[in-house]
Amino acid sequence: MTRHPRDGSGGVLEARFGNPQGERKPVLLLGHLDTVWPIGTLARMPWRVENGRAFGPGVLDMKAGVVMALEAMRLVREVDVDRPVVLLLSGDEEMGSHHSRELIEEIAKECRAAFVLEPAEGPEGAYKTARKGVGQFRLEIAGVPSHSGVDFGAGHSAVRELAWQIEQISAMTDLDRGTTLNVGVVGGGTQSNVVAAAAWAEIDLRVKTVADAEAVTRKLKGLKARDAQCILRLSGGLNRPPMERTSSTAALFAQAKELAAGLGFALEEAATGGGSDGNFTSALGVPTLDGVGAIGNGAHAENESIRIDSLVTRTALLAAMIVTTV
Ligand SMILES: [Zn+2]
Repeated sequence: MTRHPRDGSGGVLEARFGNPQGERKPVLLLGHLDTVWPIGTLARMPWRVENGRAFGPGVLDMKAGVVMALEAMRLVREVDVDRPVVLLLSGDEEMGSHHSRELIEEIAKECRAAFVLEPAEGPEGAYKTARKGVGQFRLEIAGVPSHSGVDFGAGHSAVRELAWQIEQISAMTDLDRGTTLNVGVVGGGTQSNVVAAAAWAEIDLRVKTVADAEAVTRKLKGLKARDAQCILRLSGGLNRPPMERTSSTAALFAQAKELAAGLGFALEEAATGGGSDGNFTSALGVPTLDGVGAIGNGAHAENESIRIDSLVTRTALLAAMIVTTV
């Protein structure tokens, strides 16, 4: 077991199982230990079990997934099989994996497949075989300030320019292609009697393909100020590349579906708009199944919970995938 300290990120835990000199490449079990909940949340949202469900901050995203990985490894070690496994648990996934990304990618490259311990999709617990890519941009606008009463005509409002730019950015959304741009946070100006000198917006981009990401990024970079006295400055970019449903991921899913049928349940696959560390492994060409963790609801919400009866069969399936993936 090795810890890779990263500044302020809580580090990354790397655990290796099995013979690294074996015939087969390792598989990667990828998870995170951080949650979206601040320290102290347990005091008002305590762990509890009720009507077959377990509640608590982070129970679904993704404490249950981590427990499943450990239990799956216990099962795998009971059978004498040549299969090295790397379990990687990061500490900054919910913040965008800025500190752990490099290590995740470095290790994923040596692996045959990646299983991401994120929550399953929907009440039936589908595996996720596609995820949208996520971009984060910031648009800053510099205008020309003036006194709104004395010298209105000399001013060029950054706030007014921003209002216009928001419409241009929002118009780049293409729901049919699965491309969305959300101007989620804005700011600007100082006083209502001052023509605003500065304004800014934070933009969240979701795309299904790398090509779409590049096309939208080009459009954003090409935004022109409507008021020629205003200056636009765009920063940011694609934070997580899209997890596209590659043929090798589809083949891995077919294998999982067959094993699930043998365990007595029907496994479906799903695509989602949310990103995870699976986006990184998939973009490297590593076959990736995501959402192999628990079934539940309320991730990131007050009612976060898991269905306890989902744990046993899904853990058995994970163990079977670890053993049988050639
Ligand atoms: Zn998560």
